[in-house]
Amino acid sequence: MITTLRASNIAKLDREPFDVLVVGGGINGAVSAAALSAQGARVALIDRGDFAGLTSQESSNLVWGGIKYLETGEVALVSKLCSSRNRLIKTYPSSVREIRFFVNVEPGFRRSHFTLYCGTLLYWAMGNFFTRAPRLLSATDIASEEPVIDMRGGSGGFEYSDAYLVDNDARFVFGFIRGALDHGAIIANYVQSLGAQRREDGLWHTQACDGETGRTFEIRSRVLVNACGPLVDAFNALNGEQTKNHHVLSKGVHLIVRRLTPSRRVLTFFADDGRLFFVIPLGPVSCIGTTDTRVDTLPPLVTDEDRHFILENVNKRLRLPRPLTAEDIISERCGVRPLVTGNGASASADWTALSRKHAIEVDHARAHVSVFGGKLTDCLNVGEEVTEIARTFGIDLPFEGSRWYGEPPDEIRDEYFHQARLMRLDELTAPESSEQLSTRLWRRYGGSALSLLDDIRQDPRMAQVLIAGTEYIRCELHHAAQREMITKLEDFLRRRSKIALIAKKREIERAPGLLEACTILFGDDAQHKFDEYFADRERRESLRPSVPTPMPEAPAA
Ligand SMILES: Cc1cc2nc3c(=O)[nH]c(=O)nc-3n(C[C@H](O)[C@H](O)[C@H](O)COP(=O)(O)OP(=O)(O)OC[C@H]3O[C@@H](n4cnc5c(N)ncnc54)[C@H](O)[C@@H]3O)c2cc1C
Repeated sequence: MITTLRASNIAKLDREPFDVLVVGGGINGAVSAAALSAQGARVALIDRGDFAGLTSQESSNLVWGGIKYLETGEVALVSKLCSSRNRLIKTYPSSVREIRFFVNVEPGFRRSHFTLYCGTLLYWAMGNFFTRAPRLLSATDIASEEPVIDMRGGSGGFEYSDAYLVDNDARFVFGFIRGALDHGAIIANYVQSLGAQRREDGLWHTQACDGETGRTFEIRSRVLVNACGPLVDAFNALNGEQTKNHHVLSKGVHLIVRRLTPSRRVLTFFADDGRLFFVIPLGPVSCIGTTDTRVDTLPPLVTDEDRHFILENVNKRLRLPRPLTAEDIISERCGVRPLVTGNGASASADWTALSRKHAIEVDHARAHVSVFGGKLTDCLNVGEEVTEIARTFGIDLPFEGSRWYGEPPDEIRDEYFHQARLMRLDELTAPESSEQLSTRLWRRYGGSALSLLDDIRQDPRMAQVLIAGTEYIRCELHHAAQREMITKLEDFLRRRSKIALIAKKREIERAPGLLEACTILFGDDAQHKFDEYFADRERRESLRPSVPTPMPEAPAA
């Protein structure tokens, strides 16, 4: 059972000292643990919630070179992000895929569509021509290829490429956590660090609390990596760690609604505030956003103003059968971008102009590392930089250069698809799914998908959809229970899968099979975990402002 994996890891955390303790299991902590453990360091990682449960589950799911930073002249950043994007597309061919951004430029915009198109040519060149070439679009092209776009007298636009995460960001992060576990890292979710001190024995002593039992204990490590995302400053303050860099927080909200266009493209506009605004395909739904508001407190909440901004902007720009209203919202995503104010730059300076670069600050005297800012897109660089820093602290990396990221090699992939074809797996594809079962299992589980085939061969019921209305089959639940450290139902519904994003709460609650899924995941604790999830969502929803969102007039047909 999965509780055994978590419980046995927690029991190991306070035994021997580790080389490195990573605090925080968002993308930055996950890649740090994956890179270090694969190269032979003894690594522990804890997160006070679930992996990717804070910022890393709230992104736009884009792996992109940051085209918009060209306008602020951040050429070096764009160039670096483009090569990070290309590396992820190459090494994760099934889960990080190129996608076209289809842009309509409205009349009166600050730059003409031709000028912007020239910018995309530069962007393409900066990405080493790795993706498909940009394309200039006339008004007629846009009207015929994306009739859902309301042209509003526009004269044209352009199309260019970046990439996206086919599943979701949190699943992508979990891939690194799983990789680190496979390389011997001792990892547990729902374990909070209460603070850490560097003692005379030359070790960090970190106090930790198991959120499930309330038990406190100490973890010792030679190096401490603070990867607490927006809470990096708070954790440093707890440990008496002084840094030059700090965070400023900017809230970003996305709304998820039914699929607004059948095409697999990101519809891209400039919103009323002049910022880029996206309608992104996410399986059977569309994810719309985002906003950009300075905030000082956590957790960030979606306000009626945020909803109004997003719905108004999308309704203005798309020709929908009727305007979208708050009733159409299936789910919401809300996170804060941790933006770096480095080397004395004032937090009150123009925060919208702050660079999106990450900064890794090292305290050499105390063997302490703080990871500030960053993007999912840049994650491989963060893993490599943290490894390099660990080496400077004398951490032994006996398997230096070992592969710590990427999908399994072609031979394993070929064998998997060969076995899937022999079993006629795709004839079992669930009616809810728009893609073949073999493709989906490979993307989600990589080499472990072979053991799922084995489960299905032994018991064909393992290929049946378990939770009605979703595409998840019975063997996936068994796999999650054993290997994905599902501690709460939300971990599965919101992060290991995207069920909670694509279905409304009341549909999930009534879905036949959900209780059986809970039994597979939690055994005797199933009913308790089921009730806990729905009570918790109820509580969070009651925190939302209750004023109805004012809706715009329907656009002229
Ligand atoms: C709206 C929005 C859209 C974005 N879109 C994109 C995009 O499309 N592409 C892209 O590349 N990037 C995007 N980003 C940026 C990216 O999502 C973030 O930079 C990244 O997820 C930050 O990861 P992190 O690991 O630093 O932080 P987090 O994901 O927040 O992880 C920090 C972790 O530390 C844990 N923690 C904190 N304190 C403690 C403690 N005391 N003890 C134990 N654990 C602790 C937290 O629980 C949390 O899980 C977006 C961000 C936002 C907000």
